[in-house]
Amino acid sequence: MAPTLRTPTERTCERCGREEVWDGDAGTWRLAETDGERAVGSPYCIHEWDINGSFVPFEDDHPATA
Ligand SMILES: [Zn+2]
Repeated sequence: MAPTLRTPTERTCERCGREEVWDGDAGTWRLAETDGERAVGSPYCIHEWDINGSFVPFEDDHPATA
């Protein structure tokens, strides 16, 4: 099999539950729809995205030691 380009296509906010999907044509994230319902989440949330996929660029669970 050819190596797969691993591009995140979905992401979910860990804080408010907002879901977005990657629109490759538009080159932007847009709101996901599930069964006609849009998981908008909170407009006041500073979204913390949990991107579906196998790569994690960094983890911020660990306290940074400078
Ligand atoms: Zn959020």
